[in-house]
Amino acid sequence: FRFGVRIEILAMKISFRISNLSKVYEMGEEKVIALDNISLEVPEGDYVAIMGPSGSGKSTLLNILGCLDRPTKGNYLLSGESVEKMNDQELSALRAKSIGFIFQSYNLIPYLNVVENISLPASYEKKSSLDFARAEELAEIVGLGDRVSHRPLQLSGGQQQRVGIARSLSNDPSFILADEPTGNLDSKTTSEILELLEDLNQKGKTIILVTHEE
Ligand code: ADP
Ligand code: MG
Repeated sequence: FRFGVRIEILAMKISFRISNLSKVYEMGEEKVIALDNISLEVPEGDYVAIMGPSGSGKSTLLNILGCLDRPTKGNYLLSGESVEKMNDQELSALRAKSIGFIFQSYNLIPYLNVVENISLPASYEKKSSLDFARAEELAEIVGLGDRVSHRPLQLSGGQQQRVGIARSLSNDPSFILADEPTGNLDSKTTSEILELLEDLNQKGKTIILVTHEE
């Protein structure tokens, strides 16, 4: 019995587990094998970097891990739940609850200000009024407490990515997936953003980072 309990605890420590996963894009006659038989385990609380040349399937992998896309073949366990068995609605719910995304090009809504952009994912999930107090707190955490009413175009690239990071936190996800988040930033801003991610990892977030930064 004790042994059984122990196994359960160990199993819970793995947050992402993919096995023999492939993704093939079919473009008419042509097939693009973006991922070919990949296996990967990421324990809870880990901070993992995925590196590789352009076109090697990094974004494809991250999109599948983030439940934005499905594999062609293979298994994917997210926090012990088998993702391929879920329908689109269950997948969206799981994504909204547990995953935060950060993008290279920030993907902010230009006509919304900082707090509105940050509170967007939370407003999708709860389908209720936007939680601006929470968004202001998050703006403070990423160092934008004095920019809450600015719109994206009134901010520098680094500040926009801080908004992107704050937005990724708005559902209080356990996992953060970042796809080249510093790809458009200079080296000083890059280290500031990486410091912010490091800090989130110290606070317990599991992070998978696609990057070119050694
Ligand atoms: P990376 O992020 O490492 O640059 P991607 O995952 O974006 O690589 O792409 C991997 C391969 O899959 C590339 O050859 C790309 O052209 C192809 N690819 C990516 N997305 C699609 C898609 N939606 N349809 C067809 N081919 C795609
Ligand atoms: Mg990419």
